[in-house]
Amino acid sequence: MTAPQVVLLDALGTLLELEDPVGGLRRELADRGAPVEASAARAALLREMAYYRAHCDQAADLPALEDLRDRCAEVLRAALPGRAGELPSGEVRAALLAALRFTPFPEVADVLSALRAAGSRLVIVSNWDVSLHGVLQETGLAALVDGVLTSAECGVAKPDPAIFHLALERAGGGASAAALHVGDDPRTDVAGALAAGIAAVLVDRRGEHAAPAPGVRVVRTLEGLLPAAR
Ligand SMILES: [Mg+2]
Repeated sequence: MTAPQVVLLDALGTLLELEDPVGGLRRELADRGAPVEASAARAALLREMAYYRAHCDQAADLPALEDLRDRCAEVLRAALPGRAGELPSGEVRAALLAALRFTPFPEVADVLSALRAAGSRLVIVSNWDVSLHGVLQETGLAALVDGVLTSAECGVAKPDPAIFHLALERAGGGASAAALHVGDDPRTDVAGALAAGIAAVLVDRRGEHAAPAPGVRVVRTLEGLLPAAR
């Protein structure tokens, strides 16, 4: 089987993992004289993450990202107990940003390199704010792909087929029939790609999903995308 002309890739859960931020946040707050219990840190982070998810598409440029981060820090601060809840927002913001760390899954760099070597053009399509570009630089993944689209910059998010069509354009105008989208979310990735006429692969790293639509391949890691694995 020849390599797909274009491979579109989701970011979080597909290429990148968010390290559990609870420990990091507790360390950062303790360093600022405001220790909190793990359960309280987790509860506050869940509030902050819910706020972030609801508003991340507003962060389409760096000033908007700064503003969103200020607001996220304020949501977090308001949800933290005791002295942590009384820290200046700037301190809470610094603690939060230091606690959020993204790491590529172990096989990702090798698989992206192999797909490119086989002739595929790779474009990341992610529901993320403009800061994804920095994350991809820091993790070394930016150099391994041909393009990156974020929902915040596009003004449209998965599962809307429009963002998949924009990604095909970014890949050089490949036909949807010659493309593949790879992602870990059955709704935003698989259903979204299928609605755009693009074949989908579901990355199910923990084996937790029910069988997807007929014709949708399921892989446990990105190694399942390599020709030898077919
Ligand atoms: Mg994902």
